[in-house]
Amino acid sequence: MQSLIVGNWKMFKTVREAELFARRLVAELEIPPDREVVIAPAFPALYTVAAVLGGSAIKLAAQNVHDQVQGAFTGEVSAGMLIDAGCKYVIIGHSERRTFFGETDDIIRRKLSAALASGLRPILCIGETLAEREQGATLTVIAGQIKEGLKNINLGDIGSVSIAYEPVWAIGTGKTATPEQAQEVHAFIRSTMKDAYGKELAGKLRIIYGGSVNFGNIGKLMSEKDINGALVGGASLDIESFSEIVKYKEV
Ligand code: PEP
Repeated sequence: MQSLIVGNWKMFKTVREAELFARRLVAELEIPPDREVVIAPAFPALYTVAAVLGGSAIKLAAQNVHDQVQGAFTGEVSAGMLIDAGCKYVIIGHSERRTFFGETDDIIRRKLSAALASGLRPILCIGETLAEREQGATLTVIAGQIKEGLKNINLGDIGSVSIAYEPVWAIGTGKTATPEQAQEVHAFIRSTMKDAYGKELAGKLRIIYGGSVNFGNIGKLMSEKDINGALVGGASLDIESFSEIVKYKEV
């Protein structure tokens, strides 16, 4: 399985900045064959960045999607529009969307369904808050987010989904889960998916880790059996640090 390294640019970079950054990535990024690299610029830059990525190995993701095909939903963007703009992936259910924009598991499930219906590959983000971890509720929260987020999704579509485990307390805080903490949850996610959808699908599922990933900690995280990539926020905004992350060596 190719590991999946996703750069989430959040609400950073203008169209021009994103274009120049993408040009540098295409020219300079060395991508080992066992990994797939995806970048997720803000909506306005998607089309321009897609043109720059062109036939390169770097793929494009959106950071959000609406669940309807079209209509009177001011400020929203549909899955079909994202495909049209050149996206292959979409990040769904990021904790910032859950926290700041009130996204519930039900909304997330509808977005997932819309993305899959259009042929976009969803990256479903799940993760516990610090309070939930301290109460010993991490695995219950994770199980609930998987169950609710994937409810009623066709078995045939589940194979297109990747899951990002992002402990909320580790996002943008500089606090990374230890490789052991992350591995415990990743193994739990895989076994939950195995119980729900079978061994073959669970074996192929890419479960990526996110939360203050940088070039200093990625090697250890990636050496864990059930960690199949990384969702990188802050450290993906700088070309040198993102390049080092992409070239990680397991330690
Ligand atoms: C993220 O945006 O998903 C993320 C994990 O951010 P950071 O790497 O900055 O913690």
